[in-house]
Amino acid sequence: MRIFLRDLYTCQRKGCGKIEGDMSVLVCDHIRPHRGNETLFWDESNLRMRCKACHDSNKQREKQQSLATCGVWH
Ligand SMILES: [Zn+2]
Repeated sequence: MRIFLRDLYTCQRKGCGKIEGDMSVLVCDHIRPHRGNETLFWDESNLRMRCKACHDSNKQREKQQSLATCGVWH
């Protein structure tokens, strides 16, 4: 993956900047959701490097947000 090299194996999240030599805990994250759009999916300007910890915590937050906007559970 070229993104790994471009971002020098460094987490792009502000305040993290962790350099991760282990590819298995590096995640390529889409800045804008690609929603199956191949152009967006492969657009390098739409990709950033995240360490797994940041990626997971981000996902968690999205989940909480969607729960909040979904309203009441029946
Ligand atoms: Zn990170």
